[in-house]
This record gives sequence, C-alpha cells and structure tokens, in this order.
Amino acid sequence: MDITIDLEKCTGCGLCLKACMYDAIRIVNKKAEIDENCTLCGACVEACTFNAISIAGIPVKAQDFSDYKGVWVFIENRNSQIAEVSYELLVEGRRLADTLGTTLAALAIGYGIKEKVSGLFDYGVDKVYLIESPLFENQLDDVFAKAIVQTISRYKPEIFLSGATSFGRSMIPRVAAILKTGLTADCTGLDIDANKKLLLQTRPTFGGNIMATIICPNNRPQMATVRPHAMGARGTETKNINYASLNHQENPSGLAQERGTPEVKRGDIIEIPIQENLFKSRLRLLETIDAIEEKINITDYDIIVSGGRGIGCAENFGLLRELADLLGGVVGASRAAVDSGWISYPHQVGQTGKTVNPKIYIACGISGAVQHLAGMQTSDVIIAINKDLDAPIFKIATYGIVGDLFEVVPRLIKRIKSGKKLF
Ligand SMILES: Cc1cc2nc3c(=O)[nH]c(=O)nc-3n(C[C@H](O)[C@H](O)[C@H](O)COP(=O)(O)OP(=O)(O)OC[C@H]3O[C@@H](n4cnc5c(N)ncnc54)[C@H](O)[C@@H]3O)c2cc1C
Ligand code: SF4
Ligand code: SF4
Repeated sequence: MDITIDLEKCTGCGLCLKACMYDAIRIVNKKAEIDENCTLCGACVEACTFNAISIAGIPVKAQDFSDYKGVWVFIENRNSQIAEVSYELLVEGRRLADTLGTTLAALAIGYGIKEKVSGLFDYGVDKVYLIESPLFENQLDDVFAKAIVQTISRYKPEIFLSGATSFGRSMIPRVAAILKTGLTADCTGLDIDANKKLLLQTRPTFGGNIMATIICPNNRPQMATVRPHAMGARGTETKNINYASLNHQENPSGLAQERGTPEVKRGDIIEIPIQENLFKSRLRLLETIDAIEEKINITDYDIIVSGGRGIGCAENFGLLRELADLLGGVVGASRAAVDSGWISYPHQVGQTGKTVNPKIYIACGISGAVQHLAGMQTSDVIIAINKDLDAPIFKIATYGIVGDLFEVVPRLIKRIKSGKKLF
C-alpha cells in the first residue's frame, strides 16, 4: 500500500494534520507532506475534504451483502439464567433494527433455557432462535463458536451483537475469525450511519483518552461486543408467541437442515436441532471454582458512594460506608484506592473495573481520570467532593462540592440523620 498527496488539489488547509494521531503530517510551503511515522490508518483520507490524499492498494472486496438482513443478539446464559447484558443489547438492538427498518432476532444457545426464552419477546424481539442441548451446559468456547458460526452462515444477519462479558470476550472473537469478519470489542456505544446503513461501533481507545468509532464496510456480519451496563435496559413491549420447531434432516454441518423455509411469524421461537456428535469440544472442563472474592456486585445498586486516593487509608472508607448505608447504597472506589489495598477489586469503577449506571454517584476524593469516568459517566446524578477546584471530575458533575471530604461527608451524614434534605 502507498499513500500519496495530490499537490494540485492540496490547499494546505491542515485538516489532515488534526486527523493524524501518529504525527506523520507536516504542512510545508502550504502543502501537506507525510513522513515515515505514517501507519496507513487512513484517517487523513477521510478528513481531507479536497480529496487530495489517497491510499493505493487497499484490497476492497466488491461483495453483495443483500442477503444479510436483520440485527441479532446472542443471549448469554448460565445455570438457566439469562445474562443482564443480553437484555440491554436487545433494547439497543431494537433501536438499531428500527433505524435500519429491519427485524430483531435473539440467538439463545444453552441447556435448560427453553422456558426462559419466551420472556425475550418483552424486549421487542421479532424471532428467537433456540439451540438446546446438554452440550451447551458449560460455557465451552469452541462448541458455542461452532453453533454460532453455522447459524450465522445459514441465516445471514447483517449485525451480530454480544455482551463483552468474560465469556463473550473469549468466545466471540473465534466466531469473527472463522467468519473472516470484523469485530469491535468492548463497545460503549452503537449507532447506525443512516446513509451507508453501517453499524457505528464506538469504544474507548488509547488508554481511554479518545473514543474511536469503527465501521466494518467490507465484511458481514458487522460484529460487536458491548460492555455490560454501557446501555441501560429501557421500556419493553410484549409480543404474541408461537413455537415453530423446524422440520429437519441431518446434515454434515451439525445444524438441522431446513426443508423449505417455514413461514415465521412475529413472536416465533424457532428451535434448531443439532447433531450432537458433530459438536465435540476440544476443551475438557475439569472443575468450576467460584471466584475467591467478595460477592458484592456494585452494579446492582442505585446509589454508589465512591472513594479515591483522597480517602487516604483503608480505615477512612468506614466514613463512606456509613454514608452509603444511610442512603441504601454501596461503596465504590477508584483504581488508585484499590491498588493501594484500601478496598477490594470488586468495588473498582472504571475502564478496568465495573461500568456502573446508578441514579446517584458520589465521588469523594477522586480526580476524574478518563479511565474512571469511562465507568460512571452515564450515572443519572453525579456529586463530586474534591478539594481541588480544577479536578476534572467537576466537568461532568451534576453537583460539585469544593472542600475537604473529611469535613463535607460528616456534614452530609449529620444532615441525613437529622432528616433534612441534602440539597
Ligand atoms: C489502562 C488504564 C486503566 C485504568 N483503569 C482505571 C479504572 O478502571 N478505574 C480508575 O478509577 N482508574 C483507572 N485507571 C487509573 C486512572 O488513570 C487514575 O490514575 C485513577 O483513576 C486516579 O484515582 P484517584 O482519582 O482516586 O486519584 P488521584 O488522581 O490521585 O486523585 C485524588 C483526588 O483526591 C483529591 N483529594 C485529596 N485529598 C482530598 C480531601 N481530603 N478531600 C477532598 N478531595 C481530596 C485530590 O484533589 C485529587 O483530585 C486506569 C489507568 C490506566 C492507564
Ligand atoms: S486536508 Fe487535504 S487539502 Fe488540507 S492540507 Fe491535508 S491534504 Fe491538503
Ligand atoms: S494514513 Fe493515518 S498515519 Fe498516515 S498520515 Fe494519514 S492519518 Fe497519519
């Protein structure tokens, strides 16, 4: 591949300079010049409104994607329980499908989930595809990946979404690699480019310092994993349900072969039988060990009182616990507090901790680094207590209290105990 600038067209406007994250462009004598730092990322090509930059040799597959239709969501489940993130994705998937004017389908693979899947229609799903077998009792990446690849190859969804859980992060890349399509992992936002009908997949990058929006124009399906709680579950609508088990005959792929396409009505559960002998795993589950950590899940709480380095020591978290208990909430923490050993990891909020979306988030002695904000900035109300007026947390706070937390928090506690309003 080679990048060139058409000097006739280049006006020296500098738009490309701003777009280049690799500092590879200079404007010399009112013309752009590109040096060896260039990674051929293509950002400047998009940015140049004068069409002066081109990259030659990018292999663009001229493919017909007209067979690919619909938005699909993978329904993650364990011990007959559907993961919360799958519901969040269904709500988001419905919105994307409506924008595209297409259908929303759920793909549930597991064991002992048949009774649960009808509830998916409450989330605006048009069809549920169900693969039930004891083979899927444990979350073995390779058997799940095989079943998903074969289902996608048959039904051809244009968009396929999954939760960025530990299982999703480990299994879905296999699916994308086998299908030779793109996958954007760990998205925090999804949308549709209305003109090009492409999925816009947004995720933090460069250590959370910038948000990148990624597209997959040359392959199908467009695949993304999405962080739990990045999108809250919203309103739902109940649909009529029909059960439609497919007529099938055996086929070498392992999935049942349809005889003709059945008329699938809105609200249908389509059971796909499999040939179990063709789904042998190369993995062997020896033992399941519960994580040796506190069982707290801070994402379940509507109020989180978080402490950062400003708390100073483990004992001082007692103050935040008192406030959290009074409010019926839970204690959260920044990574600095967790790394200092003042509180355990399940309490950490942020890019490498939990993504939370509470009604009230109270940040005490937390500066507001982007990696922390990535995990809590969608909270309904953010209250920041910090003695530094210039702390970045104040830029996103609904209410900011500039002061020493060891004076402010006890006063808040006193006020709550006296039954007075906080603000
Ligand atoms: C790849 C990567 C991933 C990361 N993931 C995360 C993550 O998931 N979560 C996370 O939180 N961070 C994460 N970080 C770390 C992040 O960059 C910051 O270092 C961290 O969030 C800082 O924590 P803090 O705000 O508690 O500490 P500091 O930045 O040191 O801020 C302490 C704040 O406390 C205030 N303060 C001090 N004393 C008082 C007082 N008595 N009263 C009131 N205010 C006081 C200070 O003014 C200051 O603003 C990550 C970093 C990287 C590179
Ligand atoms: S954006 Fe285009 S026109 Fe402007 S300086 Fe860069 S190459 Fe030249
Ligand atoms: S292709 Fe990417 S790295 Fe190269 S000059 Fe353009 S923006 Fe910079």
